[in-house]
Amino acid sequence: MSAPTCARAGCTAAATALVVWRNPRIHATDRRKLWPACPAHVDYLRDFLAARRFPVAVEPLPADEPEPR
Ligand SMILES: [Zn+2]
Repeated sequence: MSAPTCARAGCTAAATALVVWRNPRIHATDRRKLWPACPAHVDYLRDFLAARRFPVAVEPLPADEPEPR
């Protein structure tokens, strides 16, 4: 399974975090949207959603491959 890439338009960097959010106007309270994000864009994506007053949280992306040493 390959690593997800960043959800920012035009960015092809590997994601290292998940931006977890929900639109209260269209999503049920147990619904969660997940945006993978690279380190350069995790703040951008979180702020983009926070500016719309969506509940948003950032979680580390679980690594499914060991880091090269
Ligand atoms: Zn990115």
